Amino acid sequence: MKYMKCQICSNEDISTIYDGQIRDGGIGRYTDINVNMYQCQECGVIWHNLRERDLDEYYSSEDYRQELEGTSSENDFYRIHDGETLDKLYYTGTTVFRDKIVADLGCAAGAFLDSISGMAKTVIGIEPSNVYQTALKKKGYCTFAYASDAIQEYGGKVDVLTSFDVIEHVSDPLTFLKEVHALLREKGKAIIGTPTDAPVMRAMLGQIYEKELLFSTQHLWVFNQKSLMLLAKKAGFRKASVRYFQRYGLGNALSWLKYRQPKGNVSYSFITDTMDIVWKKELEAQGLSDYIVLNVER
Ligand SMILES: [Zn+2]
Repeated sequence: MKYMKCQICSNEDISTIYDGQIRDGGIGRYTDINVNMYQCQECGVIWHNLRERDLDEYYSSEDYRQELEGTSSENDFYRIHDGETLDKLYYTGTTVFRDKIVADLGCAAGAFLDSISGMAKTVIGIEPSNVYQTALKKKGYCTFAYASDAIQEYGGKVDVLTSFDVIEHVSDPLTFLKEVHALLREKGKAIIGTPTDAPVMRAMLGQIYEKELLFSTQHLWVFNQKSLMLLAKKAGFRKASVRYFQRYGLGNALSWLKYRQPKGNVSYSFITDTMDIVWKKELEAQGLSDYIVLNVER
């Protein structure tokens, strides 16, 4: 393998953990070419070497949502994503937003901001997509395309910053976290969620799960506790911790085993609420969940 260095921890011990087609946009779409996925043997971060797209241009256009979800309209966004708001409130709690200056970085059409706008003093939506910026402005939110733009006006002023399913898309996660740091006031908090490498699903399904879902052209990184904590320290945060959350229930795992394809949250009559809660809580307690949330304080 050609010389390579981990962008997160600078370690040079890198393994190729996958060589094949990966997801390209929505479910069932794959790259034409085989893609190598690499893993740092020190911090555990996983990445691929596809960097050919001009990311800024890509995320500000409608192409990204079109390729991912087959639509880029505001109303379709709410239909697809409003249901995730409850999960996000579960990660953040509801008490941190009252009378605060709150920013959501990579907020798309602002579904999460809608749910907290009645509590927050000021709502800031940071989103490169032109279509969604129009929607955010219509709702009266302070709107910026990039964190670097928001820093001009709100640097050192934001009380709470949230960012869900965004850090895995950025080419330079350290700069991303440094910009979060610059936006926050002293003792301001950020809550940053990202998918894990879903160790249980990979143990059961291996390359099937990796090809169909986990590895995707649009996710430049798959983070874990160690790599996130290291990034937080490098970005200058005083405090950092992670929490694990399991988004998908037992029915999802069983349907994967049956169909070898993603079917979402499938319910089976024999899976009681108690069974499902135990499944999720056990995975979270063991650090084996499908989602990880980094909590940092400036
Ligand atoms: Zn590393």
